[in-house]
Amino acid sequence: MRLRCARCNTERLDTHLNSFFLCEECTAGLTNEALNGTQPIFRDFVVLSYCGLCNEHKELHLTQWFLCPYCDRLVNSYRLGRVSQAFAQAEWDRLVRPVTSRIALEVKDIVSLSPYQRPRKKRSLATELDFLGKEGDQAVFWVELKTGQRSIDEMVTFQLDCSDCDDILNVVALTGLPAYVFHVHLGREYHPPSFRILTHGIWWTDIFAMAEAFQETERRRRNGGKLAAHFSKECFQTLGSLGPALSNDHHVLLRERLQEHGMPRMYRINE
Ligand SMILES: [Zn+2]
Ligand SMILES: [Zn+2]
Repeated sequence: MRLRCARCNTERLDTHLNSFFLCEECTAGLTNEALNGTQPIFRDFVVLSYCGLCNEHKELHLTQWFLCPYCDRLVNSYRLGRVSQAFAQAEWDRLVRPVTSRIALEVKDIVSLSPYQRPRKKRSLATELDFLGKEGDQAVFWVELKTGQRSIDEMVTFQLDCSDCDDILNVVALTGLPAYVFHVHLGREYHPPSFRILTHGIWWTDIFAMAEAFQETERRRRNGGKLAAHFSKECFQTLGSLGPALSNDHHVLLRERLQEHGMPRMYRINE
């Protein structure tokens, strides 16, 4: 039986009844901003746990919509994106800003609820990354935020989709500014029937260090078999060391390197 997805509005065989535990505000937000005003097909049973969107401990209802797997994944990604973005900013304020008060971190790519848009034929490359580092009015570097269920220490290698590398390099080429990559380690703490997303740690590296740490490319077994680049995890450091590095003009040196030597090659496709 083909069922209509509440978000992308297509009728698909793999559309399922998806369950979320949501607070009142988040139910309204999802309905109006992400799901074309489609009211939940079911909303009942009050529980006290962590909301599937705002991640706050609140009174929740079991809330259901018919969604295709793609839209289900996307709706679930909002919480991860919001939590990691807020954590990165809080950790910057706690660890980096006291050391380099002249550089501020500005959110560029805000995780916001949005309706489905039909994909363009060819995916266009990013023109902005998640954060922009600014000294006064002047933009000095970009930051791209990545999240995962492992700490850097637990990884064998750090993996990044080649399409993500291409996005980062496109923004660097367009703006002439270097880019840093942050990795946020997220975890889950179950409070049945829902769970809380926990933030365990944050690390940083830059595109030149990544290019030097590149090992190989490989097709992912999951995630649509995308081509991913593997990097030695040693190119990452805990966020605490970024403040002193920026105070020593780390970002200025990266920019000079960019001007003198051009774009780093973050990955090479295996022969
Ligand atoms: Zn859909
Ligand atoms: Zn909520």
